[in-house]
Amino acid sequence: MNEYKRNILDAGKTLLHAGLTVETWGNLSVCDRAAGRVYITPSGMDYDTCVEDDIVCMDLDGKILEGTRKPSIETGLHLAVYRARPDVGAVVHTHPIYSTVFSCIGEGIPLCIDEAAQALGAPVETCAYFLPGSAELAAACAEKLSGEANACLLKSHGAVCVGANLKAAFKVARVLEMTAEIYWRIRAMGRRPDPLAPSDIAFMKDFAAHRYGQR
Ligand code: 13P
Ligand code: ZN
Repeated sequence: MNEYKRNILDAGKTLLHAGLTVETWGNLSVCDRAAGRVYITPSGMDYDTCVEDDIVCMDLDGKILEGTRKPSIETGLHLAVYRARPDVGAVVHTHPIYSTVFSCIGEGIPLCIDEAAQALGAPVETCAYFLPGSAELAAACAEKLSGEANACLLKSHGAVCVGANLKAAFKVARVLEMTAEIYWRIRAMGRRPDPLAPSDIAFMKDFAAHRYGQR
């Protein structure tokens, strides 16, 4: 089986069973930069029963190369992110509860814990509301992800998380939702988190990128 398609199928199950979405919502893609190919989930299909032939393969302009299924309605968003961020090899669109709470009130998620400083790249912002699947939503999200941020909140909808590969994008997705839950609990106490020092955030980003874990 094509390795990219295999990884998309596995990641779809992870998306659903990690509680990062419900039903058939959310979507994910990987980009084979060398071949100029993007593999993306089909629209509105059950992650648990998708098979290899359900995954759609296209070029970076959206021309379908393999597959007969209708691709995700957020295909334009995924492609816009790949164009905006040449370092990105995977895009995961989640519908996570705590992150979406903040998106519904138009607020972002600050880098208020160490994991967030290491994984999220920059404070996470919410883009303006646009309909799911619209070109406007794709442009607004790609704009938010065009700098250092590895995640963006879609107003009253969900989140988009990116990484060099699916593993890295899922790490961002999990850390984003954990940070959002902690932030929500702090706000529920009527408090605001103490900000981390910019120098500490810079240290942790560098530490995570170059020195954390086994060499
Ligand atoms: P698709 O099933 O077409 O990927 O749409 C789900 C979704 O979350 C749209 O934003
Ligand atoms: Zn969605």
